[in-house]
Amino acid sequence: MLDTDDRVRVDAIRDQIRAGGRRWTIAKGAIVEALLAGPGHLSPQRIHEIIARQYPQIDPSTVYRALLTLADEGVVHTLGQPGEARYGLADEPHHHAICGGCGLQSEIPATAVARLLTAAGAVTGFQFDRDSVTLTGRCVDCA
Ligand SMILES: [Zn+2]
Ligand SMILES: [Zn+2]
Repeated sequence: MLDTDDRVRVDAIRDQIRAGGRRWTIAKGAIVEALLAGPGHLSPQRIHEIIARQYPQIDPSTVYRALLTLADEGVVHTLGQPGEARYGLADEPHHHAICGGCGLQSEIPATAVARLLTAAGAVTGFQFDRDSVTLTGRCVDCA
């Protein structure tokens, strides 16, 4: 179940997609809801498992195609790590931290690394994406 804040977020994403002249589908809505419930960023397979409980008619290939469309629309993005892609919502700007021990992922608010990116941009002349930082290390439990 979504709480009120999550419902508002889903509605905003839906409006953003429609404003771009794109279609809002049942699969897209189900994916956004699954990603809101989390935890963290999820593989297409995991997303399908979650969705199938409520929408058994949505098959894995539909989930996969809808994820690619949502990524194209800027609604979701993937974690910058090797292996199977994991998708997460991109409507709130953030970067990623990944534990090398247990694979735990954490979102780093964009504001937390804004000065780092400004400094890195001054050195390189780059304009960095708002999800370009992936920090690896050990989480609290693995440290
Ligand atoms: Zn993310
Ligand atoms: Zn860990």
